[in-house]
Amino acid sequence: MCGIFAYTGSKNKDAVEVLLEGLSSLEYRGYDSAGIYTPESGVVKTPGAVGALRGKVPKSFTGKSGISHLRWATHGAPTEKNAHPHHGGKEDIWLVHNGIVENFRELKERLTKKGHTFFSESDTEVLAHLIEEYLRSEKNFEKAVFKALGEVRGTYGLAIQYAKEPEKLIAARMGSPIVLGVGNGEHFIASDASPILKHTKKVLFLNDGEVAVLTPTSHAVYKLSQKRVRRNPEELSWGAEEAQKGGYEHFMLKEIMEAPDVVSNTLRGRLIQKKGMAKLGGLESVAKKLSHIERIIIVGCGTAYYAGLIGEYMLEEFAGIPVEVELASEFRYRSPVLNQRTALIAVSQSGETIDTLEAVREGKRKGALTLGIVNTVGSTIARETDAGVYNHAGPEVGVASTKALVSQLTTLALFTLFFGRARKLSPKKGAEIARELAALPKKLETVLKKEKEMAKLAKKYAHMRDFLFIGRKYNYPVALEGALKLKEVSYVHAEGYGAGEMKHGPIAMIDQEFPTFALTPRDSVYEKNVSNVHELKARKGLVIALATEGDKSIAKLADDVVYVPKTLEMLQPILNLIPLQLFAYYVAIQKGLNPDRPRNLAKSVTVE
Ligand code: GLU
Repeated sequence: MCGIFAYTGSKNKDAVEVLLEGLSSLEYRGYDSAGIYTPESGVVKTPGAVGALRGKVPKSFTGKSGISHLRWATHGAPTEKNAHPHHGGKEDIWLVHNGIVENFRELKERLTKKGHTFFSESDTEVLAHLIEEYLRSEKNFEKAVFKALGEVRGTYGLAIQYAKEPEKLIAARMGSPIVLGVGNGEHFIASDASPILKHTKKVLFLNDGEVAVLTPTSHAVYKLSQKRVRRNPEELSWGAEEAQKGGYEHFMLKEIMEAPDVVSNTLRGRLIQKKGMAKLGGLESVAKKLSHIERIIIVGCGTAYYAGLIGEYMLEEFAGIPVEVELASEFRYRSPVLNQRTALIAVSQSGETIDTLEAVREGKRKGALTLGIVNTVGSTIARETDAGVYNHAGPEVGVASTKALVSQLTTLALFTLFFGRARKLSPKKGAEIARELAALPKKLETVLKKEKEMAKLAKKYAHMRDFLFIGRKYNYPVALEGALKLKEVSYVHAEGYGAGEMKHGPIAMIDQEFPTFALTPRDSVYEKNVSNVHELKARKGLVIALATEGDKSIAKLADDVVYVPKTLEMLQPILNLIPLQLFAYYVAIQKGLNPDRPRNLAKSVTVE
């Protein structure tokens, strides 16, 4: 999920400097530790920044080739020991990895029985031992890698080096991007093109299930089946900054577009589809306490708070547990009543949001069981809660949260299966939820095709000074989020309301100059929402309806309609969010603003 950079050259270039510089251009991704290996000088790793790594690398540290890494921990704290590169027992197989080895426990157990000793808690390390094990029987580096990868479940972007063949690098990709740079007498491997472009514009993007073998003067791409793939490098015209954004103009857009992968990554290894259950390893240590929980309180700030509101509806409807959701900044200053049968769930992308952290501390003082839904491994909230589940959304760079919310909602749906199946949820309904969760990535792809349509709508409405967003039940918090996103990145005044509340105040503002985004999917409250649209039209209000594909009748009523595929009512927010995020993004673009850097806002809110 974070950064890989590897180099092999035959000229008199100092690989160490190339690698350290390359890591610097990957720093924008956000990471927690860094490391470098060359066959000539060995390894240096450190928690913290590339600057710290540079400071630790001695002058005598050299190499003609090597691998380097920025880690964004998923398994094991961000410590020196867990940082990459990792090695096998003999310290001749070295590798750096982005992604998650889902079956690392099984593999570790098997390899431990065969005599392998492990040095870290990272899931990655098992790969080095597995390759080493196959090297014993195959006596060939490439073959050993192919054999080992055949056994891996999960995601990987990899750069692998064998000390006895120092000029050779092997790269592999499954769900985690890998780009090869083809230079003159030198080759590069990176997780995006940004560190490569300084050296060469000739690149080759690996596809999932492909492996590449590189030497300074040659490169060959194979499928996992070892069949050769013939593909010529392409010439990139991107600048380094464009490359960081994967060719998108802004991180915000790139991260909105990542939604399908985000859902897949959050679900990976956690969904037992047939039984309609969720396997949440992070909660195992508190399983006994959880079975006695009688009430849940969800705390968060901003977008994470809205995630909590949707979670409340899911958990109450399907798990039958009373849930309250509270702004962390309120919770911590009043006197909430809690006891040992209360679970406090803290939702935070960064895991450093000070109000949410203080709410956790308050919960602990009062004896509640504290749980985290956190994206950043090893962050303070992750460390201070009793247990928790990581979102696995990957680092979010855009200040306004987009993909993190998608992953928070997916995680809350998993919580619902987890709590629900231990309580009132039937296996049949559980299986239906699990099936629909698994179908979300495909449906998200359909929604993302609306990008151009949302850009057009943004153009049409960008001159408006005010917006109302309305939704009911599961889509009420979506309306709140739609308004928040618009405010954050375009500075347009927007109000989010429960559709039923419209008549209790906001409708007084409505005229031709005050458009409404109405969330009207075909769900259990559809008719009520349609009535609200009628009421708006009767006041000459402009209405953009977000409706279920095929709903022709709403098109007759609204000024504009955006169609979204149908899913279960509880999961519909995950799809409905996307057009609203795109709308906010494109309104900002229309206004000539930089959505990645909204004024007055910071990514991680560590002040009270
Ligand atoms: N899962 C690996 C770890 O926790 C790789 C993390 C990454 O992608 O940086 O070490």
